Amino acid sequence: MNYSVIADAYEKIEATTKRLEMTDLLVDLLKKTPKESIAKVVYLTQGKIYPDFVGLEIGVAEKLAMRALARASGREKSEIEEDLKKSGDIGETAQKLLAKKKQTTFFQKTLTAQRVYETLDKMAKTTGYGAVDSKMALLAGLLSDASPKEAKYIMRTVTGNLRLGIADMSVLDALAIAYGGGKESRELIERAYNISSDLGRVANIVAEKGLEGIKKFQVVVFEPIRPMLAERLSSPEEILEKMGGKCVAEYKYDGERVQAHKKGNQVVLYSRRLEDISSQYPDAIELVKNQVKAKEAILEAECVAIDLETSELLPFQELMHRRRKYGIEKAMEQYPVSLFMFDALYVDGKDLTLDAYPVRRKALEKAIKENDRVKVARHIISNNVKKLEEFFEEAIENGCEGLICKAIGKGSVYHAGARGWLWIKYKRDYKSEMTDTVDLAVVGAFHGRGKRAGTYGALLLATYNPDTDTFETVTKCGTGFTDKDLAEIPEMLQKQVIQHKHSRVQSMLEADVWFEPSVVLEILGAEITLSPIHMCAMDSIRKGSGLAIRFPRFTGRYRLDKAAEDATTSAEVVEMYRSQLKKISEA
Ligand code: ATP
Repeated sequence: MNYSVIADAYEKIEATTKRLEMTDLLVDLLKKTPKESIAKVVYLTQGKIYPDFVGLEIGVAEKLAMRALARASGREKSEIEEDLKKSGDIGETAQKLLAKKKQTTFFQKTLTAQRVYETLDKMAKTTGYGAVDSKMALLAGLLSDASPKEAKYIMRTVTGNLRLGIADMSVLDALAIAYGGGKESRELIERAYNISSDLGRVANIVAEKGLEGIKKFQVVVFEPIRPMLAERLSSPEEILEKMGGKCVAEYKYDGERVQAHKKGNQVVLYSRRLEDISSQYPDAIELVKNQVKAKEAILEAECVAIDLETSELLPFQELMHRRRKYGIEKAMEQYPVSLFMFDALYVDGKDLTLDAYPVRRKALEKAIKENDRVKVARHIISNNVKKLEEFFEEAIENGCEGLICKAIGKGSVYHAGARGWLWIKYKRDYKSEMTDTVDLAVVGAFHGRGKRAGTYGALLLATYNPDTDTFETVTKCGTGFTDKDLAEIPEMLQKQVIQHKHSRVQSMLEADVWFEPSVVLEILGAEITLSPIHMCAMDSIRKGSGLAIRFPRFTGRYRLDKAAEDATTSAEVVEMYRSQLKKISEA
């Protein structure tokens, strides 16, 4: 196939603003394309040579493109720069300058689509020493044999400026019309795309094998499945009604969504946007390798930053430290992660995407071996508003964003690539950010595990309520303590240990060790939330709820200058909660 056929089609597509007309032009192009080249032509129309998840881009900077044009056209760089300033489009500049040259040249090879694709592919794969010059030479070679119009589109493609406005959905429409027998087949073809994220492969199958081929289209390991997304409601009543009276409710962990693909010893992690993010999480890769028993699997999980010593979940922002090219080993040590698995889409040869959720969840539980860093998302099955509300509060208390409620009926398939009512998220409407530190009295402690065996894993902290002369628990804090702190704190608290909860302490939590309130620590939290578990200012904002400080961290300051009664008061925390209260924007 000659590249000129493609360039002509691009020119017409560019000239229209009507979607239907664009689809017709695309249908025309796809019909003219030999079947074995259809995948390549589909990638090219989107300015790509591979599906996004492969992560290979042609990536030619404008400067390099100008050098190639200078060589192919025989023009001075300054002249090219001058023209580019006027046109603002390297494609147009190439077309114009080459048109002048072509008038004086007689011999010109015809450019095949195959050659254009292969050259772009070579350019994308050229890296390392001398890569810039090699890429330049490859591009100049193409331009020398291109017609001015072809050069325009080649230049735009390599510099990432093709922008024909052909959305994935238009390609799917065009494929349905060209090879699927009509628009009605669009849904089937779209499903194939949703479970492979590869328009080229889908195009190839429908062109070569028709709809029969598409019906047999299968999930394949290392081709990411487009994620299923959740709708949102703001009360358990509404959620249960939508779900037909009963649902699974799971913690909505606050981390980064990963789709883990495993085949033998090879593991790739894809992000929510289906980019390969394996290099950011070498530790998560090891966790998948070791804890996923299935030989082949595609599982979904939320990757969450944690404090390894206390197992506390940390806020999403901590994962930002993983978005770097260098020093990932250090980031891994400083910001460890856990995986909370929440779906199984494929396990050992079986595509589970069309199975109901309870079937997928069972397969998930069977496919993994849980340990302290790989767990199945915590869940309950319920038809009860109050139970859901309690579970929601528990999720918040444990560092999660809320709940994701999931349908469990027959039709509860994995709806790839769609936001729908099979999943409904339930998040808080309001949150109150903490900007100031608080001074809290230590009233209890919990034994440490693992590295913290023999010392305290977390301290139970309280505000002071002068009206009742009591200490009301407000948070449990295990973060921010140095090894020295950990060694010293039990000694420091030794004299205050008592056999049972102090009569002036208000707590629903059962600590392992109780203290007479005396030691005061400075604490910085991320936010203040309503909580059914903590007693601080109980009932003052909402009946049955106290206030809690989330993501608390010891600042390192022992307030030895303060008596327990000088701790921050419950009323002050109420004030902080009210003054920082913000509506969480709809998401
Ligand atoms: P949000 O900002 O609410 O995460 P979103 O558009 O990114 O919005 P949603 O569909 O609204 O995505 O929410 C689903 C997200 O919640 C998933 O992408 C996933 O990252 C996260 N999540 C956490 N825990 C779970 C769980 N148990 N099941 C499904 N998704 C979960």
